[in-house]
Amino acid sequence: MKEQHTTERYTLADLENWSKATQDADPPIRLGVLGDPVAHSLSPQMQNAALRACKIDMQYARFHIRANELRSALRFLRALDFVGVNLTVPHKIAAFAQMDHSEESASRAGAVNTIRVRDRKLLGSNTDGEGFLRAIRTEFSVDVRDLRVLILGAGGGAGHAIAWQCALENCERLVLVNRTYEKAQALAERLRPFFAGPRVLGPAARLEATAWDEAALRAQLADVDLIVNATPLGMNPSDPSPIPARLLAPHHMVFDCVYGPSKTSLLRAADEAGARGANGLSMLLHQGALSFSIWFDREAPIDVMRAALL
Ligand code: NAP
Repeated sequence: MKEQHTTERYTLADLENWSKATQDADPPIRLGVLGDPVAHSLSPQMQNAALRACKIDMQYARFHIRANELRSALRFLRALDFVGVNLTVPHKIAAFAQMDHSEESASRAGAVNTIRVRDRKLLGSNTDGEGFLRAIRTEFSVDVRDLRVLILGAGGGAGHAIAWQCALENCERLVLVNRTYEKAQALAERLRPFFAGPRVLGPAARLEATAWDEAALRAQLADVDLIVNATPLGMNPSDPSPIPARLLAPHHMVFDCVYGPSKTSLLRAADEAGARGANGLSMLLHQGALSFSIWFDREAPIDVMRAALL
C-alpha cells in the first residue's frame, strides 16, 4: 500500500537531508509550493489530484521556507530531482533574481510563481496574471479590458503580475495602491506607455498610483469597477478588511486573491455594502493549471483540479 505525504510540511532542514526525510514517500515528492506561511495552501490537494488523474507517479508537497532560506532552498531544488515548484508569499519577487532563465511572464512582472527545473537550471514563469484574468471572467462574466481596476498591494508579487495583465489587456483604467507608496509609483511609471491613449470619458486619469489612506481611496473608488486585494490581509481570520464597507458601493466587484474556509473580512465588507465578491479560489485553480502545463508540456485536467478544491 502506497503512503501519501501530501499534507505534510517540509522545511529547509528536510531538503538538506532529503533522502532520509522522504524515505517513506511513495510516490516520490518532485513538486511543491514554497512559502511562509504555507500551511493554508490548497495547491497540494489540487496538484496531487491532477498528477493521479494523469497517472504521473510523483507527488506535490508543502515547504515552509522563510524569506532568508529561499536561496538555499533553491540550491537544493537544482541538485535534487525536482520537476518544479510554485512560490507563494513572500518569495515571488526575491526569487526572480535567482532564476537562470525567465519567461516574459516573469520578467515583465519581476516576479516568479512557477519554477521548472531542467538540467539543474531554474526556469522562472508567472501564471498569476493569466490565472487572475480567467478567474475574473469565471467569477463576474466580464473581461478585464472593459473594467476600471484598483489593485491593493500593487507592490507585491501577485500585485505586479495582475497590474501587468491589466495593462496588457488595455483595461479602461488602473489604480495602483500600496502600503509602500513608492513601489506603486515605480510600477505606474513602467506601465505608463500602455495607458497613453484616451479611453474613458471624464476627468479621471487612466493610470494612477495612489496613497493608501481613506480620503485617497474614497476619491478613487467612485471611478472604479473592480477592486482586487493582492495583499495577505485576510489570510488570518483576525485581519481587518483592507477596505472598510463604508467605502464600497453596490456597483463594485470585489476580488480577494486570498482564499480560505471562511469569508475574508474584505468579502464580508463587500456583502455589507451590497457589492459582488469572490475569493481567490478560481485564481488558484487557473494559475495552478497553467503551472501544471509548464511542468509537463500538456494540458492540465482542470475539472479534476476544480473538484479537488471544492
Ligand atoms: P508579497 O509578494 O509578499 O506581497 C505582499 C503585498 O501586500 C505587498 O504589496 C505589501 O506591501 C502588501 N502588504 C503586506 N502586508 C500588508 C499589510 N499588513 N497591510 C497592507 N499591505 C500589506 O505576496 P504575494 O505573493 O503577492 O501574495 C499576496 C497575497 O495574494 C497572498 O495572500 C497570497 O496568498 C495571495 N495570492 C493568491 C493567489 C491565488 O491564486 N488565489 C495567487 C497569488 C497570490 P509593501 O510593498 O508595502 O510591503
